[in-house]
Amino acid sequence: MKRLGYYNGKYGPLEEMTIPMNDRVCWFGDGVYDAGPCRNYKIFALDEHVDRFFRNAAWLGVEMPLTKEEFKDLLNKLVHEMDSGDLFVYMQLTRAASVPRQHPYTEGPGSLWVTLNPAKIPDGRVPIKLITREDTRFFHCNIKTLNLIPAVMASEAAKQAGCDEAVLYRAPDRVTEGSHSNIHIIKDGTLHTAPLDNLILPGIARAHLLRACDALGIPYVEEPYTLDDLANADEILMTSSSNLCRHADQLDGKPAGMKDPETYDKILTWLIDEFTNETGG
Ligand code: PMP
Repeated sequence: MKRLGYYNGKYGPLEEMTIPMNDRVCWFGDGVYDAGPCRNYKIFALDEHVDRFFRNAAWLGVEMPLTKEEFKDLLNKLVHEMDSGDLFVYMQLTRAASVPRQHPYTEGPGSLWVTLNPAKIPDGRVPIKLITREDTRFFHCNIKTLNLIPAVMASEAAKQAGCDEAVLYRAPDRVTEGSHSNIHIIKDGTLHTAPLDNLILPGIARAHLLRACDALGIPYVEEPYTLDDLANADEILMTSSSNLCRHADQLDGKPAGMKDPETYDKILTWLIDEFTNETGG
């Protein structure tokens, strides 16, 4: 299969799959998701993604229909249905159906979704362009919920500006993260990244980046930083599971970053080596 969709035990070509209208994702975006890359039919950082997925479901009080082991077995079975082993693996759990539409939680096992689409990690050496946008999201950004409209709007603004990602800031000037990535800076050899609080998603690629810094002896601080820090950074890094790590050469139409390519290259090489080693050479 080229693109696969799974919903509550049934699966088939993605474009042929349908979901019931009373799935609470349609009424409220009521659910959680997770996503990560697969290479050579091996899902990268599978345990970390599944652990976060189950943790988010528990935070939102949505009942998982499978155990972690059963779910990992399911994902591994589904990827082997695919024509290519280089994929983007997306998983989603929505709260038990609501009939009629009602705001309070419904009881019973949630609905489990999986989609698989062909994808490859892009070349992290090619710089990207960024814009900044005010972060208008809610205060549960640490939970990977399906309520993504502010992120969708910021991402569209980036696209309209001919850019790859929008960097979000809480007024007046605290940089939080990207619309669908974490954002970090390097200044004078130290990596700065936003702390893990309710304003950002604890990215799995972010965790790997910090592991890379530990392994390479690059100091890092997890503290709030500002739009000025961003504009004056030696390097601006974006991490996400679908991109691994990229760096930016433009911010709001002006040249930015690109002043410490050696440190960036060391980090990127470490991350690519880890990814290729774990996914089979
Ligand atoms: N922040 C947000 C808002 C995101 O949507 C994502 C991507 N899902 C990330 C950060 C990066 O997370 P990860 O490294 O786990 O893909």
